Parts: sequence; structure tokens; C-alpha cells
Amino acid sequence: MQEETDARYMRMALEEARAALQADEIPIGAVIVADGRVIGRGHNMTETLGDVTAHAEMLAITAATQTLGGKYLTGATIYVTVEPCLMCAGAIAWSQLSRIVYGADDPKRGYSTYISARNTPTKPSKPSATEKSGIPNPTPNTQKSTHDAQNPMAGIQNTIDGTQNSTKVIQDSTGGIQHSKSRIQNSSPSPFHPKATITIGILAEECATLMRDFFRSKR
Ligand SMILES: [Zn+2]
Repeated sequence: MQEETDARYMRMALEEARAALQADEIPIGAVIVADGRVIGRGHNMTETLGDVTAHAEMLAITAATQTLGGKYLTGATIYVTVEPCLMCAGAIAWSQLSRIVYGADDPKRGYSTYISARNTPTKPSKPSATEKSGIPNPTPNTQKSTHDAQNPMAGIQNTIDGTQNSTKVIQDSTGGIQHSKSRIQNSSPSPFHPKATITIGILAEECATLMRDFFRSKR
């Protein structure tokens, strides 16, 4: 089962996040897996290294490329406890990771806050200009959502308005972390490789709780 495999590796990412917590860092962890093997892992070390770029994903990507001896991670999956920020989404795209799995949404700093999909108000989606003219989208995402195959925006909009009972959304006032049931995102535009797939919400509760507790302890 893919979901069980995802949960297993997300638990490893959570171990990394707890290592960050022990060092009084914002608790985010990441693990990169290729062919059933962990090839890189890391946790947020921005305070320890005095480096704002030392996010879990960046360190895991560097570790993975060192393991493989090449700069591209095509075919590999990154598991990260919290939605990647813009910088990390860019690094994930540059490294050509094929699959992105994350736990909790981050409405404040997560990359999808900055793509137009999440900023689209909740209203019936209209076909884009290219769809209207009959010209196929140059980078179609063929991933089929398990929940909303007909409406690629539905998962994101559920996150915003929480209208669907199947998607539980909890907004945290301090950490800004949301969590919901696992879902597959097939929205466009995406910052990632055109063929990359995104799975959201694996162990979201645990991932979000770590963050929430950390920020609460800082008050
Ligand atoms: Zn980041």
C-alpha cells in the first residue's frame, strides 16, 4: 500500500523534525527515498548554522545528491513534514524530484500560498484561455486525484473554505499550520517538474502538532 509506505517514510521525517526540536529549531524534517532506499535526510538547522537557507529539504537534497553522486534526483520522492516554502519548492524543482509528499499545510509560508490556485476565490472554475481556444495545456498534469478527478482545484478550495466534510481543516492561530486528510494535488500551475506528483496530508496531524507545540512554547 502506497499510503502505508508513505506513512513509514513520513515517520522518519518526523524523527528528523524531533531532532530539530531538540536543538530548539523549528521542527521540520525531510527524507528522500529512491528505489526503496533512504538516500538523504535532514532537519531544519537555520539557528544552528546561522543560515536562513538551512531548511530540512535543502539539507536533504544536498545529502541525496552526495549519496547518488549526481545533481538530479529524478525518480526519487521527498517526504517533508510541512509544506515546502518557495525556496525549497524551487530546489525540489531544480533537483527534478519526481514526487513530493508532505504532511501539514503551511498557509503562511507554503509555496502554494504564492501560486494563483490558492489565491483564487471560491467560485466555479472557468476554463483557461488556452482551454477555451482548444489548444492543449502545454504542461498538463496527468495525475488523477482520488477525490476530485473532475475538479483539480477542489482540494485547494476545500482547504480554504472547509466546506467538504471529508476534509478536516484546523487553522492554528500561531503557527498557521493546517492539517487535513491525505489528498493528491493536481493543480496547475505547479512549481515542480511537469510530471511530478504531489501527495498532501500524510501524518498531517502529527506534523502540525509538533509545529504548534513549538510555537506555543515560544509565547
Ligand atoms: Zn523551505
